[in-house]
Amino acid sequence: MTTILMASHQDPVDLWRDALAMEMPELEFRAHPDGGNLAEIDYALVYWAPHGLIASLPNVKAVLSIAAGCDHILADPQLPPHLPIVRMVDDFLAAMMAEYAVYGVLHFHRDMHYYRREQLQSQWSRAWPLYTPDTSVGILGLGAIGGDCARKLGALGFQVHGWSRGPKSMEGVICHHGPDGLLEMARQCRYLVCVLPLTGETRGIINERLISAMPKGGFIINIARGGHQVDDDLLAGLDSGQLGGVFLDVFNQEPLPSEHPFWQHEKVWLTPHVAGELMPRSCAKSVAANIRRIEAGEPALDLFDKERGY
Ligand code: NDP
Repeated sequence: MTTILMASHQDPVDLWRDALAMEMPELEFRAHPDGGNLAEIDYALVYWAPHGLIASLPNVKAVLSIAAGCDHILADPQLPPHLPIVRMVDDFLAAMMAEYAVYGVLHFHRDMHYYRREQLQSQWSRAWPLYTPDTSVGILGLGAIGGDCARKLGALGFQVHGWSRGPKSMEGVICHHGPDGLLEMARQCRYLVCVLPLTGETRGIINERLISAMPKGGFIINIARGGHQVDDDLLAGLDSGQLGGVFLDVFNQEPLPSEHPFWQHEKVWLTPHVAGELMPRSCAKSVAANIRRIEAGEPALDLFDKERGY
């Protein structure tokens, strides 16, 4: 019998139990804190599990992340160092993230921020639109999620740029890479969308340097992690007019403290970390596929790479 223990304070246990039962009826499902005999647990399926929980599973073979990022696992100081960690890569998650990216870009591109202000003053005032084929969007991170964002924004007729760590080629996307590539891309883009993993190299990457490289009045959409943005630099960019607006789903501190200036800022649009949800009925497929691979002695797909940090 193969046994999985789920530990998450926010994911729906019942939906995960049902979805895994459909995909892998032979798997025994348990949910923390009712893990039973912890020596029987083969896999941990986690999102912000209590620190020390994974270390208390003597026979666990892998940690499966209920998130694309693995920051919530690495934050556990007692995490056994050699345990394989499997990221969540899921088409529906990528599609949801791309929906948000497209929505954020279109919100600004179709002047919804402007029309809302005008509406509140009962003003019938038309803004002249930009020509979409001349308008560039830059995607920071061209992975499973960024690639889908790039394709969908390209299908809407934008000129799409993308930035990755190593060189990449993607049909219809002007690709940049490495530290120089970032500013080269930012200089050309009215809109930037961040879908990077949070690593030592990407923390604080949405900063004064990046903002000032963009054309004046540009817009940033961050749906990756709050640690990518330097809050004071965003606020300074917004207040000086260098930035026309930002759409933020993620924050340095979550929940965003009630006194934070983002809440009331007229150029900030924010949501409480909801850009991409992990739907059990879709994500259970990759969890089951990876367990089957590990049980067959094959490496899991989408293994977290400790050297790269993502
Ligand atoms: P992937 O690992 O598939 O892709 C990561 C991309 O970022 C790759 O293109 C990679 O480059 C690039 N990258 C990494 N480091 C650098 C760097 N130093 N410089 C330039 N490019 C870099 O990740 P996913 O697309 O699956 O997920 C991205 C992130 O989105 C997650 O880590 C998570 O934090 C966030 N997320 C947020 C959600 C939300 O609800 N707000 C939901 C889901 C995900 P290369 O191609 O060269 O490797």
